[in-house]
Amino acid sequence: MTYVPNPQRYQDMEYRRCGSSGLKLPAVSLGLWHNFGAIDSLENARNILRLAFDSGITHFDLANNYGPPPGSAEETFGRIFKDDFKAYRDELIISTKAGWPMWEGPYGDLGSKKYLVASLDQSLKRLGLDYVDIFYHHRPDPETPLEETMGALDLIVRQGKALYVGISSYSASETEKAIQILKELGTPCLIHQPKYSMFDRWVEGGLLDVLGDKGVGCIPFSPLAQGLLTNKYLNGIPKDSRAAEHRGNGAMEEDQITPDKIARVSKLNDLALQRGQNLAQMALSWILRDSRITSVLIGVSKPAQVTDSIGCLQNLKFTEEELTLINNILS
Ligand code: NDP
Repeated sequence: MTYVPNPQRYQDMEYRRCGSSGLKLPAVSLGLWHNFGAIDSLENARNILRLAFDSGITHFDLANNYGPPPGSAEETFGRIFKDDFKAYRDELIISTKAGWPMWEGPYGDLGSKKYLVASLDQSLKRLGLDYVDIFYHHRPDPETPLEETMGALDLIVRQGKALYVGISSYSASETEKAIQILKELGTPCLIHQPKYSMFDRWVEGGLLDVLGDKGVGCIPFSPLAQGLLTNKYLNGIPKDSRAAEHRGNGAMEEDQITPDKIARVSKLNDLALQRGQNLAQMALSWILRDSRITSVLIGVSKPAQVTDSIGCLQNLKFTEEELTLINNILS
């Protein structure tokens, strides 16, 4: 059936400015790392994307290697975009990335200009788009001069293949250098995409300060620690959970769900309930409490999780007591 978006879609979502740029992103964005591959249900993918857009989520995040197999999440998105979202292109912020292994040989990995330019050309074909809104270098490459990698991002913008550029998983000092090089080239670094959750707080050790000082946005990935920061693993590992699915490509495995983690999750869950939230919602609110965070980049396996997670926006404030309690549980 022809998709007609919800006319109220912009009513309840919060939009935050991305650093000091002109661009605003929804406080909750949706990533397609898992559940959108060729092995997954196209109908479920379509239902998730429609519900997300209907709920005010305007930003969808991809990468060349998302699937499985690699490339297939971009193809899934491209197909659904063509059917459902083409008329709404100017309401969407679509991102993709390159930096992890994608094809055989020396030009399908890391950070050379050769890899980044060729990979984005391939991504645009799979997505069925003329340009992406944001193109990221997916991870630092210690072997390629940063000037070359940042030069490739600048080139891509000048070629009109991306409007903005970003970096992912760069350390605080690498980020500072990348921001400076991009500034000199005349293509500002829009955003950084780091891993950040209650269980992985490395960004608090300097990266967030750099981003705040330089006016660069921040969109944390895996904010629910791939589902661990929800109530789903409290009583074992459900069959339809990511940990049970052995999807590979960095997806959480059962052995990462340790008794120690579950003991902490259980305490966090109690606190969330006292705040009138569930744990997934509290874990997202906790990240969004910092004004340097532009958006939390969630993943979902079912449409209901979109609605559930967006519910975090109902309570973004934490008392000092709650923050101390959380620190104690996590320490
Ligand atoms: P999350 O930490 O949000 O984990 C998502 C998973 O948690 C879902 O697939 C689902 O798993 C479960 N879940 C989500 N919402 C709920 C809920 N409300 N209640 C219960 N369970 C829930 O994020 P991801 O790890 O998926 O990462 C999000 C995005 O970040 C990716 O899609 C990608 O765009 C980006 N990313 C970027 C990386 C980078 O290097 N730049 C690396 C990794 C991700 P289940 O199957 O168990 O239902």
